[in-house]
Amino acid sequence: MESDVTRRGVMELGLGAALAMPAVAAFAGDARAQQKAPDSIGYAVVGLGKLSLGQILPALKKTRNAHLAAVVSGSPEKAKKAAAEFGLPDTAIYTYDTFDSIAKNPAVQVVYVVLPNSMHADFTIRAFKAGKHVLCEKPMAVSLAECERMIAAGKAANRQLMIAYRCQYEPVNVTAMQLMRKGTIGTPRLISTVMGKQTTLSDPSDAWRLDMAMSGGGALADMGIYGINATRYLLLEEPVEVRGWARTDKNDPRFKTVDDMIAWQMRFPSGAIGEGSSCFSQPGTMAWQAIGTDRRLVADPGCVYGGNSVRIVGGKGDAQPKVVEIDHFGNEMNWFADVVRGRSPNVSPGEEGLQDMRIMHAIMQSVANGGASVKLAGYKRAHDPATAVGIRTSI
Ligand code: NDP
Repeated sequence: MESDVTRRGVMELGLGAALAMPAVAAFAGDARAQQKAPDSIGYAVVGLGKLSLGQILPALKKTRNAHLAAVVSGSPEKAKKAAAEFGLPDTAIYTYDTFDSIAKNPAVQVVYVVLPNSMHADFTIRAFKAGKHVLCEKPMAVSLAECERMIAAGKAANRQLMIAYRCQYEPVNVTAMQLMRKGTIGTPRLISTVMGKQTTLSDPSDAWRLDMAMSGGGALADMGIYGINATRYLLLEEPVEVRGWARTDKNDPRFKTVDDMIAWQMRFPSGAIGEGSSCFSQPGTMAWQAIGTDRRLVADPGCVYGGNSVRIVGGKGDAQPKVVEIDHFGNEMNWFADVVRGRSPNVSPGEEGLQDMRIMHAIMQSVANGGASVKLAGYKRAHDPATAVGIRTSI
């Protein structure tokens, strides 16, 4: 049994043009750059760290519906280099202090917040005040109150807020969601997720992740969130109860304010269980599996930047759905461009970020109380990414 992302499916992802036509240079000096749609949406990327420089800016060269229109950085060198690479004028460079004047720049419609987690709320709310739509990195913020303020600010400004849950725009994960909806594994019983990596205090990009005030929860907030989010989108239901436990060497200088490994269980109304772990002292892992009464889906790696795969295991024999890999960061930004233009639903709005934050905080509460059960109130997501994002499979 085999599936693939059909041509139509790819077109629906907004990347059809990227595959159908030869790449045409849109920026001086980059022969691989994609030709932009006439109504392409201008993005201001805030924070030029590892993710922005390594994934987001390169992806913005490939998107048809989105382009880089400004950069916001505390580093004049990085900002100038990025602006030059994309042919942007000096007036498209902002610092964190001059950021609010972006309100006067009509070339920017979307502000993409790619800062340490503790800065997400401030820049999201300032972006709304400047009249812009906001794509905000995960985790949405560091507290429930911040998430609520961000959602309220977007509503007050009548602007869209989307949380950058890239795996919901990634073909392997969308294919897996569709297999789950079709009952490929039978009745889902257990979703198991393992997310972790090694960290080092000497890497500035890890240092803030190891600081509770800046990260809002160490490995759980940084990587465990992928597992929580995946469990929810695979099952398409919400947990009603969680328990969590931590294993942390407090003599390890990395773990003065955050836990190292947190493992949790989530109970769902259907009876399915979600179990997961996040860890900052293990080899890089972003894997999940979904076990049903008939078969299993195994995704290892399941949520990395490239090379994800999902296997169907058991039953009449193992199968590996064929999935066409795309730059899912680009797909996500294309998608949000269409949300802003009113052409696509907002599949991962602020409410989704808040729900993951509620679950993470319940897990942390349980950890603090020795694994005691914490109940969660009801929540219903607005859109199923399996159908809304629209990758089709033949299974
Ligand atoms: P980095 O530490 O590599 O970059 C963060 C950038 O934020 C810095 O380079 C800096 O940019 C800016 N910044 C402003 N103030 C500070 C400060 N006080 N301390 C540190 N940095 C500051 O982080 P990442 O790029 O890895 O992560 C950024 C965000 O993206 C996080 O929210 C993270 O969770 C999320 N993320 C999401 C991923 C995904 O797959 N969706 C993967 C990785 C991260 P400058 O020098 O330009 O001012």
